[in-house]
Amino acid sequence: MGLNQITIGRFAPSPTGPLHFGSLLAALASYLEAKTKQGKWLVRMEDLDKPREVLGAASHILRTLEQFGFEWDGEVVYQSQRSELYQEALTQLEKKSLIYRCKCSRKEIADSYNHKPVHQAPAHHGIDGLIYPGTCRHLNITEMPFSSRIKVSNQPISFNDAVQGIITQNLATQLGDFVLKRADGLFAYQLAVVVDDQAQGVTQIVRGADLLDSTPRQIYLQHQLNYPTPTYAHIPVASNVAGEKLSKQTLAPAITSEQASSWLIKALDFLGQTPPAALASCSHTEILSWAKAHWQLAKVPKQRSIVLA
Ligand code: GLU
Repeated sequence: MGLNQITIGRFAPSPTGPLHFGSLLAALASYLEAKTKQGKWLVRMEDLDKPREVLGAASHILRTLEQFGFEWDGEVVYQSQRSELYQEALTQLEKKSLIYRCKCSRKEIADSYNHKPVHQAPAHHGIDGLIYPGTCRHLNITEMPFSSRIKVSNQPISFNDAVQGIITQNLATQLGDFVLKRADGLFAYQLAVVVDDQAQGVTQIVRGADLLDSTPRQIYLQHQLNYPTPTYAHIPVASNVAGEKLSKQTLAPAITSEQASSWLIKALDFLGQTPPAALASCSHTEILSWAKAHWQLAKVPKQRSIVLA
C-alpha cells in the first residue's frame, strides 16, 4: 500500500435474509477498522446467486444498517449488475490458458475416487469438500452445459491475517482446480469478490473467519489478474453450542433496530472491545462514537469461532 493511499474497507453481505448478529459483527468490525484509519467504508450487495436471494432482503439489510447508524461512502454496488466485469476477468485468464471447461457433476467427482483401488486413493477431502482431481483438464469439452475452472499450481500460498496470523494453503493438494463460472452461467463468488474489491479500490478486508479458507483462492486470482492483494483480518464468527455458524440457515434471530444499542454493545463485547457498562444507557450513535474512539483490532479474540453466550 502506497504511503498516501487512502484506506478503503467494505462490507459485502449476501441478501439471503435479514441482517443477523453474524453479519452485524462483520459490518461493525469492517466499519470501525476503516473509520479509525480515516478511510472510506463501502457496502456491496453480493446478490450474484439469484436462486438463493430472498426478496426484499437487500433493502432490509441496508435499512437496518442505516438504523444502526452506519454511514457508507458512495453508492451501494450490486453484483448482479456487474457480469461484464467478471466476464472480462475470465477472458483475461482464458488468454493465459488458465481456464478449461468442465462437465463433472459432484457425483462424478465422487465416483472418480471410488474407481481407484483404496491403496492408491489419495486423501481426497480438502478444505472445501472433495479435491477436484482434474478430470477435465485435458479433455476438450465442447457440449453445453459446462463450468469453467481455473488451473491451480502446486505451491504454498501464505498470507498474514491481522487476527488469525499466518495462513498457508496449497490449492493443488487441498482443493484442486476450482470453478469460476458455473454450468448454469452464474459467476462464482471467488471471482466476483476479487474483481469487485479491485474495481472498488478496496485496500483492507475485514470479514468473518468462515471466509479464511477462501482467501488463498482469492490471492491466487489476484496474482493471476495482476491485482494488488489487500490486507486481511478475519474476525471470529458467532456459533451456537453445536458449533454451527450463526447464519440465516441456522435461523439466527434477525437483529432489530429497536434494540440497536444492546446489539451493538453485544457485538463490541464479542469483538473483545470491553465496552463500559455505562454505555448500556446510551443511544446507538453514542455507542458508535465510543467504538470509533476506542476500537483496537488487536483486542479481537484470535479464534475462528466463539459460542454466543
Ligand atoms: N457475501 C459474503 C457473505 O455474506 C461475504 C463476502 C466477503 O466479505 O468477502 O458471507
